[in-house]
Amino acid sequence: MAEVDVVADDEAAPPPGAPTTDLLSLHESIAGVLATQGDWRRAYHHLKSAFDLARAGSLRDTLTSSYNRRYLDQWLHGPAVEHRGPPGIAIALVDLDLFKGVNDTFGHLVGDRVLREVADLLQQGLPPEAFCARYGGEEFALVIPDVDAARAVRIADTARIRVARHPWRRIRPGLSVTISVGLAHEIHAQPDRTVEPERQLRRADTLLYMAKRAGRNKVAYHDKESSQMIPRAMNTAESTGT
Ligand code: GH3
Ligand code: MG
Ligand code: MG
Repeated sequence: MAEVDVVADDEAAPPPGAPTTDLLSLHESIAGVLATQGDWRRAYHHLKSAFDLARAGSLRDTLTSSYNRRYLDQWLHGPAVEHRGPPGIAIALVDLDLFKGVNDTFGHLVGDRVLREVADLLQQGLPPEAFCARYGGEEFALVIPDVDAARAVRIADTARIRVARHPWRRIRPGLSVTISVGLAHEIHAQPDRTVEPERQLRRADTLLYMAKRAGRNKVAYHDKESSQMIPRAMNTAESTGT
């Protein structure tokens, strides 16, 4: 009973973007008042604050507060990936398993809450220089710069296990959530930077598809010439971490 009440409170909470929007409006209003008084310097200061908040907000997903697709695209095509020498950069595409069933069984509000919590869980295990972005729908991208392939696999699989182990039943009895992950790691930059991130994303997407085909709740990645899957064998205890 208490658990259900907690859920109800959380579902009724305002969307994560709301406080920033309010602050933005406040700065805008103050700027307007100051402008009518001819105090242009302070009006500019508040307009600049409003602008900075709007710009930061435009790079965040309103449901999960994680970065959004725009941020991901800007980062991938920006100077940060100009040099990709060793140890390399990893991009993981993460997709919630059978998420339509969560919506159908428990409703969209529970589905929304699951998306928020998965975004938090994904962000938790990332090194400081890495980030999680909502790629769309129930898909997220993890970008991990300056990482070797083995460590990237460990980070991705730790995320998979963290999601599987999360006490989802506290939200609704019978609820369980897992993710599938396609992990693409690359070291050397191609001459054409505008194509390379897209290629790496496509590789991650192909690997994600393989993880789904292999039964879900798995991480698929390339090891030298062949693709690999963890956990390798169907072992319920290992694959769910329970
Ligand atoms: P698979 O394991 O193959 O990925 O199966 P799936 O059910 O997760 O995939 P499918 O593409 O059939 O369904 C994805 C679902 O994700 C359907 C859509 O309603 C839901 N979804 C996408 N965005 C949101 C959202 O913002 N909130 C909620 N509650 N659901 C969402
Ligand atoms: Mg999907
Ligand atoms: Mg899915």
